[in-house]
Amino acid sequence: MKIILANPRGFCAGVNMAIESLEKALGLFGAPLYVYHEIVHNRPIVERFRALGVVFVDDISEVPTGGTVLYSAHGVAPAIREQSKTRNLRAIDATCPLVTKVHMEAVKFAREGYTIVLIGHEGHDEVIGTMGEAPANMVLVEDEADVAALTLPPDTRLAFLTQTTLSVDEARVVIDALKRKYPQVVGPNKDDICYATQNRQEAVRTLAPEVDVVLVLGSRNSSNSARLAELATQTAHPAYLIDRVSELKDEWFGPTDTVLITAGASAPEEHVQACVEYLQARFGAEVESRVVREEHVSFPLPRELRVLVTS
Ligand code: SF4
Repeated sequence: MKIILANPRGFCAGVNMAIESLEKALGLFGAPLYVYHEIVHNRPIVERFRALGVVFVDDISEVPTGGTVLYSAHGVAPAIREQSKTRNLRAIDATCPLVTKVHMEAVKFAREGYTIVLIGHEGHDEVIGTMGEAPANMVLVEDEADVAALTLPPDTRLAFLTQTTLSVDEARVVIDALKRKYPQVVGPNKDDICYATQNRQEAVRTLAPEVDVVLVLGSRNSSNSARLAELATQTAHPAYLIDRVSELKDEWFGPTDTVLITAGASAPEEHVQACVEYLQARFGAEVESRVVREEHVSFPLPRELRVLVTS
């Protein structure tokens, strides 16, 4: 067996920042510490923090008045910030700056009188947060069929935005359909799919043709992890999305298979390494690391935390 380790894989700058923020906040304020939604969409990480006394809530009213709440990497709607203020909460904003950028684009387009088509997945935390910036001006579409079903007047002043963790190929199809139906539509210079999502997909697209099976470390509710598994499947290989090595099944592999291993932007490297070690021990796998693109991105801690850490 041969293992090809895809690079880049795993943690992105936004996830690194959000996790470090939560660790720092725990050190400063102790438990219980409240986080609005999962800090990142990864089960092992959420379980680890829960064991340390972090309470993940889906409603701000669950945070005791005067308590500390951290907003997850996926961002929040302005209404949530207002609720926190009303309840006199200390809020720490660990929203990824690339999500904040989409929020600012939404605000700008809405202010200029555009109707905004957001391309994204219904119910995803990031989409809920972005829609909350201009609820009266935004409509959500997931795919080409949704674009076909749009009933906006043909001369609508129209703009589009995208969720940061979409499939690059699928987003292109939806944007093209939108441009065919509403040629006047404007958008950001590039779509809003973030560098980490694009690079991880590029690595899978490049390397998957060389392998027999693809293993993606990540959680099912992680949009970018799920997109990696879908992309691998489209290259006609079986692809498995798992959180940890205990979910591996021997029958997925042949003894001389080449296995591509990658990880979504919220999946910890320790779970990649555990899978590598298992396949080495079980099938005598050799490992080759392949770099498709270099990444050198990092984001600072939220300002509220930087001030506290410094003082
Ligand atoms: S996947 Fe992209 S948008 Fe999401 S946290 Fe990471 S860098 Fe930010």
